Amino acid sequence: MRFSKSNDVLGTTNRGNPAESSLCTLCRADCNGRCETWLSSLVGRKLLYPRSFGIVTAGANNTTHVGVSYNSLRIQGYAYGVSGLKDNLTNNPDDCIFPNVSLETEFGQEMKTKIRMPLMTGALGSTFVAEKYWDSFAIGGALAGIPVVIGENVVGVDRQSKIKPGETRKGKIEVSPELDRRIDTYLRYFDGYGAIIVQLNVEDTRNGVAEYVVEKYGEKCIIELKWGQGAKDIGGEIQVTSLEYALFLKDRGYVVDPDPTLPEVQEAFENGSIKSFARHSRLGGTNLDTVDQVQEDFMSSVDYLRGLGFKRISLKTGSYGMEELAMAIKFASDAKLDLLTIDGSGGGTGMSPWNMMQSWGVPSINLHAKAHEYAGMLAAKGQRVVDMSFAGGFALEDSIFKGLALGAPYTKLICMGRGIMIPGFVGANIQGALKPEERASVNGHWSELPKSVLQVGSTAKEIFAGYFDLQKKVGKDEMKNIPYGAIAFCTLADKLGCGMQQLMAGARKFSLDKIARGDLMSGNRETAKETGIPHVADVNDESARKILNG
Ligand code: SF4
Repeated sequence: MRFSKSNDVLGTTNRGNPAESSLCTLCRADCNGRCETWLSSLVGRKLLYPRSFGIVTAGANNTTHVGVSYNSLRIQGYAYGVSGLKDNLTNNPDDCIFPNVSLETEFGQEMKTKIRMPLMTGALGSTFVAEKYWDSFAIGGALAGIPVVIGENVVGVDRQSKIKPGETRKGKIEVSPELDRRIDTYLRYFDGYGAIIVQLNVEDTRNGVAEYVVEKYGEKCIIELKWGQGAKDIGGEIQVTSLEYALFLKDRGYVVDPDPTLPEVQEAFENGSIKSFARHSRLGGTNLDTVDQVQEDFMSSVDYLRGLGFKRISLKTGSYGMEELAMAIKFASDAKLDLLTIDGSGGGTGMSPWNMMQSWGVPSINLHAKAHEYAGMLAAKGQRVVDMSFAGGFALEDSIFKGLALGAPYTKLICMGRGIMIPGFVGANIQGALKPEERASVNGHWSELPKSVLQVGSTAKEIFAGYFDLQKKVGKDEMKNIPYGAIAFCTLADKLGCGMQQLMAGARKFSLDKIARGDLMSGNRETAKETGIPHVADVNDESARKILNG
């Protein structure tokens, strides 16, 4: 495995056991650190390099590749040439420097969505960490110029929202303060780059979320149909610890387990033998038996959303098998959707059952390799393939590059779920420690800064490498309104962006559209077989032989 608990080179340590992404299998909002993502949220691009410069040397421990994963892919570098230079640049070495690599791109069909870097958040829905740290994610995402996704069930679980009974979806939601807050917070800092995406699941559709969003926000939002995610193959869950809230959710039409309306369950709760309730969403498509029926249902949903007035529509699918993957790519392409997010097993931001996360579905690299193959089949027939985003286990700049290259030219961005939430957590904790009067409102967990932060600094200006860049962008007055979690978010985004620029410069690709599968090599034969990316010893072997025989 590439990642062990502690990384001597970077001076980072995981609190728990690292997963394939480098993040701990369990990431805690109250964590004192300090994994690579946590520390990058403070010190930014400095963490691209080994520590203690001047008195150390460093050597990689990821050159022996075991198993099939993104960590078994390697990135190509070249000794000559360059492509993708912006118009004002020449192939002079003075121009071909990594800060000149452009990370800007766009996705979509008729109404393009511009983004400052090829990253988007995972869907953050009714799960409580999303609600608590929303300001950090939304403001950070808007300022970084990347799309932020509002996940499912936000309206349904909001006790302040008012939903009229009955079947008519238009006008069914009278008020929805939490959904409004989530959208408005993002839009306040939106400057033309990025987008706010609102997901729809079965309950959201019934509740009239699409109708509400289009009526209130029009073209400002992208609406996303949701088939699934990598973490689980049942609907989203949350856990609540109040009987009254559990009854409210049951009344809202959710599956609540155990059933809080049963007298024996209420008695068990009152006596402490049941301490919480799980709220579940429904499975989609249960009334559909054939691929044709799924296609018909999907197309009519897209038509309906377009009829409501949505200009941009996306689809999120999970780590289902190859048939659903093919359906997602084909139907989304046929319907001319703007984005298709394909989420591999098995990280999640909510309360997915653990052994389901461990065991269900197709791992990211297999799913994404097949997505490329299937997209290529459509393209070979002359069809414009939907722009894609890959999700599932991405946290570091090299994995972003690898995801984009593996799915090139169809993959326009990478969807990062757990990783991009860490700056929200640590930033809120720092804000709560430095400004005790704001601790409750930002959901900070610390009463004082831990040693791991004090080693970096003791004020926000000292701690966050991105502080002054952001102040320049928003102005000194507005800086007072920026939560520390959003400053941390932008600091991490800057590190990931700079790391990407360096990898792209090394691959001689100065714009994202030039990244290609040829920029990857497989570290072992098994990965080569599964991904179609040749083994390191085979890549360019033919041209090497021509040189030698020439
Ligand atoms: S922030 Fe999360 S992933 Fe990083 S060390 Fe802490 S618990 Fe682990």
